[in-house]
Amino acid sequence: MSRTEQPPTDWRRRAADLAPDGRAHIGGRRRDPEGDRWEPVTSPAHGGRIAELGACTTADVDRAVAAARRAQPAWAALPDQERKEALLRLADALERNAEELALLETLDIGKPIGQTTAVDLPGAVATFRFYAEAADKRAGELPSTPPGATAMVTREPLGVVAAIVPWNYPLEIASWKVAPALASGNAVVLKPAEQSSLTALRLADLAAEAGLPDGVLNVVTGGAPTGAALAAHMDVDVLAFTGSTETARGLLAASGRSNLKRLALEAGGKSANLVFADADLAAAAEKAAFGAFYNQGQVCSANSRILVQRPVLEEFTAALVKAAAAYRPVDPLSGAAGNGSLISAAHTDAVQGWIGRGEADGELLDGGRRVEITGSDAYLEPAVIAGLDAGHPLHTEEVFGPVAVVHPFDTEDEAVHLANATRYGLAASLWTEDLRRAQRTAARLVAGTVSVNTVDALSTTTPFGGFKQSGFGRDLSLHALDNYTALKTTWLQWG
Ligand code: NAD
Repeated sequence: MSRTEQPPTDWRRRAADLAPDGRAHIGGRRRDPEGDRWEPVTSPAHGGRIAELGACTTADVDRAVAAARRAQPAWAALPDQERKEALLRLADALERNAEELALLETLDIGKPIGQTTAVDLPGAVATFRFYAEAADKRAGELPSTPPGATAMVTREPLGVVAAIVPWNYPLEIASWKVAPALASGNAVVLKPAEQSSLTALRLADLAAEAGLPDGVLNVVTGGAPTGAALAAHMDVDVLAFTGSTETARGLLAASGRSNLKRLALEAGGKSANLVFADADLAAAAEKAAFGAFYNQGQVCSANSRILVQRPVLEEFTAALVKAAAAYRPVDPLSGAAGNGSLISAAHTDAVQGWIGRGEADGELLDGGRRVEITGSDAYLEPAVIAGLDAGHPLHTEEVFGPVAVVHPFDTEDEAVHLANATRYGLAASLWTEDLRRAQRTAARLVAGTVSVNTVDALSTTTPFGGFKQSGFGRDLSLHALDNYTALKTTWLQWG
């Protein structure tokens, strides 16, 4: 090692020094759950217990919503620049504590430390900065009116926002909701997934340290019952959700049964990746593996259906199998390149069940074996499956694991038909060197994001969300602010 080189971080030793606090964060401070009920948090990375998480009851949810309701008017009344400064301080605090947060995320959900440090944490920081900066840059409208009148159209915060998020990108997806909601002048009650609450709780600690007023950001912990209490709450104005389509359905019903709270629902996906014969096959195969296997395939927009034009099917599939090797599991704390663990052994069982179905009805070309690493058996080799009917459930249902199915097509029409033959419409990718074909095909794909000659294109600046049963509303970009605001017309009659 040269003098200037730093020794590699010993993540395992740092993990041993952590003592994560699983108490909820309500009204500006940590609180034990009413009834003193706790659930153990087990790390899928090494199988050991890492924390005890409070199981928040309806009374805790009531307390958090009441704290948010009390705090919101003063937060909304602050000059936009002050809200911006507060959120920028929070972004700075996240950045200062990035290593601890990345480590918590890796322990909580098993994704490799290289990804949480280099991708997830910088992503959350960038999201807070983006919406902080947006706080004082939105302008209203002065529509055309008859002489003697002026109408001002402004965007108003809606009040109390409940954000319910999943476990696959815990802090990042939380930031996609919390940052625009706060920047618009709402107060928030965040409910992270029960498998991955530790970074959300630290986010609330850091918000308090950064000077956000008490009650502006609350975090309640627990599973479906805690989420359901928020969904049914009469004093929650907006429910912003990311998770499964089945849960989203229940939230719509709960809104209808309670106070018609506004909903933004980001749900499941089964995204297709179309590879035409004229594509750069080496690049397409490498990115197709990324699109299907990155984050252990636990990505809502994962390109898990790969449709390949018949003349290049063999060549492409061989290259895909080769590229899949980069996603074999490694110890997530080792810093090595590769995949981490899935979220739990139970989820790994379910994904293996899908692989078994694929093997029985088609052909398992590569991977799919369970691997034990550091005492946990939530590790799975990425699987490539071929030879299934186009209507097979592996082509239409979300697996949420490292499983890709490959299927041939002959014509452009057939490719579009196959790609759209699912109840989801979150994302799609296509590969071709023909610009006209790219335009034509992209226009016909029913998906919230279509990536051409790449996969899963995503940026803070571009909207993300689905068509069909992938939900409605958009995260990211300035359009996300629409989820958390309503238009208000003020009509001045002066003539
Ligand atoms: P999930 O729907 O089971 O859980 C998501 C969140 O909802 C968790 O916080 C959970 O506790 C809560 N929840 C569960 N049941 C509830 C209920 N009855 N009432 C209120 N809240 C409830 O989903 P998951 O297994 O955690 O995550 C995987 C799913 O999320 C996949 O379907 C995936 O596609 C989807 N997802 C979508 C996006 C997107 O942006 N479209 C992003 C990531 C994940």
